[in-house]
Parts: sequence; C-alpha cells; structure tokens
Amino acid sequence: MNIAVLSRGENLYSTKSLLKAGLARNHTMEVLDPNLCTVAIENNQPVLYYTDERVDDLDAIIPRIGASNTYMGSSLVRHLECMNVFSVVGAEAILQSRNKWTCFQILAQYGIATPKTFLGNTYDAEVLLALFGKAPLIIKILQGTHGQGVILAETQASALSTIETLKTANVRFIVQEFIAESKGCDLRAIVVDGKVVASMKRQSKEGDFRSNLHRGGSSEQIKLTHEEETIALKAAKALGLGVCGVDILQGKEGPLVLEINSTPGLEGIETTTGIDIAQSIITYIERNNK
Ligand code: ADP
Repeated sequence: MNIAVLSRGENLYSTKSLLKAGLARNHTMEVLDPNLCTVAIENNQPVLYYTDERVDDLDAIIPRIGASNTYMGSSLVRHLECMNVFSVVGAEAILQSRNKWTCFQILAQYGIATPKTFLGNTYDAEVLLALFGKAPLIIKILQGTHGQGVILAETQASALSTIETLKTANVRFIVQEFIAESKGCDLRAIVVDGKVVASMKRQSKEGDFRSNLHRGGSSEQIKLTHEEETIALKAAKALGLGVCGVDILQGKEGPLVLEINSTPGLEGIETTTGIDIAQSIITYIERNNK
C-alpha cells in the first residue's frame, strides 16, 4: 500500500517510528508536510498537490497534526477523506478532540465520567464561581497542550482574578474540579481500532500537579483495570478516533477521562512500555484495506 504520514518533520520520533513500521511490512511510505500541500477542486473533484506534483496514489494516511496547525491540518485530512483515502483519524474527530470543551460535551453526551467542568467564558466570573463551588480548582485554556495553559487556583481570590484576566484577554477556557486524590498522577491509554494497545502511568515531578512528560513527569508501564480500559475504549469510540491517547485520572469514585489526543506522541509511551504502537497502527490500516 501507499501510506503517507502527514507530519512537519521526517526526523520526529513518532514519524520515524511509523515509517519504519510501514517499511517493515513492505508498504511504500512517505512523509507529506501539510505546509507543502495545496488542496484544490478541479473538474468537480478534490485534488491534492505536493509542492508542484499531483498526488493521486495514496491508499491511507496517518495524520500527525500539531496543535498550531489544526485548521490547515484537519482541512487537508478532510480533503484526503473526500478523495476516498483511508485516514486513521478523521478530520471531524481531530477538530472535536482538539477543543477541550467540545471534547467534554461529547463525552457527556455518552455519559462518560469526567471531572465536573464548566465553560468559563460566561457573563460573570463571580456567578460562575458561585455556581461551580469552592477552590482549589483547575482553570484551562481550551487549546492548551503539554500542560501549558493549565492553572491550579488554590484560593477563591486567585480563581477569580485568573478568570477575570483570561476574560479580559479574550482567551477561552474551562473551569474544572481539581482531582486532588490523583496526586499528580494520570494514566495514558493508547487505543488503536477499539483496543488498548499500551498504557502507562505518569507522575508529576515534585512540586507540580501536572504529570505531562514535557513538564518533567516520569512514567512507568501499567496494566489498566477493567474499569479503566472500558472507559478508555468508550471515550475513543465517542470521539470516533481510530487511533488516540486517552488520559485518565483516578478519582475517588473511579476513573475519569481528562483528555483525548488524536495525535498522541509515540516516544514516551513506546520507550516506557517497549510496545511497538506504530506497528499496531500499520496493521489497523491493513485490516481496513481488505
Ligand atoms: P494538556 O492537554 O495541556 O496536557 P491536561 O488537561 O491533560 O492538559 O492537563 C495536564 C496535566 O495536569 C494532566 O496530565 C494532569 O496531571 C493535571 N491535571 C489536569 N486537570 C486536572 C484536574 N482536573 N485535576 C487534577 N489534575 C489535573
């Protein structure tokens, strides 16, 4: 098969890992940088150019769309879907998972457990806080990644001033219950085609509540409980993602979905678990080609 990884860099770990896995299965692999693509409609048909060459021989794509490139990246994925090219994550699903609030709305539609969350940009910060309840609480900007844009407001006064600041700056955000019992720990499950293929536990570094590896957190391989696995699979299904990373907090009353990532980094999880996730993604594509 002809498989393209949509990625800004051939040398990024995840991209290299996917190329290697595809080549090992005798596929023709290439990297398409979304910034060098031109999408067009000619003679009533969707057409794609890569630099100055027309591309019409792709069987499947693996989008690795960065947060700063969501609009153009998802538009390219939609274009390829219109050309009947199989994508392991669809354009709509990428967009829905990228926006933290949209993602929580969809999870709620399916009754999937999440921390209590309010959309922050309401008419009055004090009313919002009165409805929400007492600090400590979490405030997150909607498009943040790698733990940047996640604030722990420990007092009511700091929550109020943070909310007012974000509103003044016209930044969209959510207010969320702080799951203190998770103690700076979260679980990441990688779901491929309706199966958890790898999972790890991440622990924040001393003095931080964010467990992101980009923020200096550490990780270890774990086996999810049945309940954790079930919620990860339900979340992936609700968002319609063939490949994703589901982040889970261990709350007092059971697992809570915190976030779903349509472009999960493979380096941290493959290094931690020793599992070849890229290979699972390639075999998922092969199953879809039958
Ligand atoms: P990002 O998309 O930037 O990684 P997350 O929502 O995943 O943002 O938050 C980053 C980290 O902060 C999480 O992995 C978790 O460790 C911590 N965190 C986020 N929200 C909460 C919460 N409501 N309660 C406790 N810890 C949280």
